[in-house]
Amino acid sequence: MTSGKARVIISSIMSTLQLPKLIEPLKFCQKAGRGGQSTLSGTIDIGKNIKSHDTLLVQAELHFGQDQMGFNLITGRLQTCLSLRCERCLEQFDYPLDINLSLSPISSEKELDSLPDYVEPLMLQADGTVSIESWMTEEVHLALPMVPKHENTANCHLTLPTNKQQ
Ligand SMILES: [Zn+2]
Repeated sequence: MTSGKARVIISSIMSTLQLPKLIEPLKFCQKAGRGGQSTLSGTIDIGKNIKSHDTLLVQAELHFGQDQMGFNLITGRLQTCLSLRCERCLEQFDYPLDINLSLSPISSEKELDSLPDYVEPLMLQADGTVSIESWMTEEVHLALPMVPKHENTANCHLTLPTNKQQ
């Protein structure tokens, strides 16, 4: 049942459902209607898109709906745990991600201007679909630190130079 390689931190929160490859976000939102919500949750492996990862399971819970004004809104949560290399001591460390999503599906760049500040655009393909894999990959890339390093220096194994060059 369980893969021996699965990370403990992730397996505890993972649902076993696999997310579909392609979805039609606008249809989901419209179907849910004003004040309504339809939910999609599950996991997807985006490891091949993320540097130094063979497998990277992402757990996502996505809510599609419309606010009272009929504005299409996708909210949700994305959780995963990356293995990054500390640029200070060069050792691997776990980097958990817990991202809150708030997006609106748009079909053209013209629609960008009408988005409120708290909402990010989710650009649909010409046929109205979005690849969950590309979307989740982008979210993870956006959340990656510019310079990965142990935040708690007590965990960092950097050996300070003991001899100063004279
Ligand atoms: Zn370190």
